[in-house]
Amino acid sequence: MSKAFFIDTTLCIGCRACQVACKQWNQLPGLKTANYGVYQNPPDLTFETYKVVRFNEESGPDGKPRWFYFPDQCRHCIEPGCLLESYAVPNSIFIDSLTGAVLFTDKLRGVSFDDVRGGCPYDIPRKEKETGYMSKCTMCAERVYNGLLPACVKTCPSGAMAFGDMDQMVAKALDRLKKVRTVHPKAQVLDLNDVRVFYLVADEPKKYHVFADARPTTGFMDRKTAMRKIGRSLKELALQRRYMHGMDV
Ligand code: SF4
Ligand code: SF4
Repeated sequence: MSKAFFIDTTLCIGCRACQVACKQWNQLPGLKTANYGVYQNPPDLTFETYKVVRFNEESGPDGKPRWFYFPDQCRHCIEPGCLLESYAVPNSIFIDSLTGAVLFTDKLRGVSFDDVRGGCPYDIPRKEKETGYMSKCTMCAERVYNGLLPACVKTCPSGAMAFGDMDQMVAKALDRLKKVRTVHPKAQVLDLNDVRVFYLVADEPKKYHVFADARPTTGFMDRKTAMRKIGRSLKELALQRRYMHGMDV
């Protein structure tokens, strides 16, 4: 049974403990940042930032700010667009059979970063300029293999993050959705059938983050890449499908 995260943004208090725990466990350095007028820090995911709590706000009916916190990370997709784009170098990305974690390997340096990032409907992968390595959340697979929770889940003080067997997390999400809908009629669980990290949001997903739910995956392609993709032969597409389903290519 693969694992899943359920992230209930209605319980998130924007404390960023999950962001810090991720850095700490993965021994990732902090970044020097500057105040750019909002509470979110750092401004975006980076090669050394696998998780970032996004802060958006609107003015509520009483004139007070209403916050939309969104702890953004890789969704460990069931059929990952990043993996689809990496078919030219087999096993550069793979899905761990026990946990379902989608994992990047060093072989990924042989694949175009624009293709990998462009293939992700949530705009997650990031690259180190100097080395060409790519990175993202690993689901803390090494912790999970040892019976521990991912570091972010373990540290969350409000109960906004849960992790466990997929069917249990789905049940938890749907149960919680039913309750939240009595107060927030627009509440929804995002892309539940397609990912292993699903978010409950109380309002329109775009109020949280432009990539909160899946977006078309051509955003980062230049014209040349787009033309090449349009021209891809049926043979290549068949190879991609076989690779996605674990057959030899
Ligand atoms: Fe790949 Fe993006 Fe899905 Fe993560 S969210 S598995 S990087 S396609
Ligand atoms: Fe939200 Fe929990 Fe992360 Fe704090 S640790 S920002 S409450 S998800």
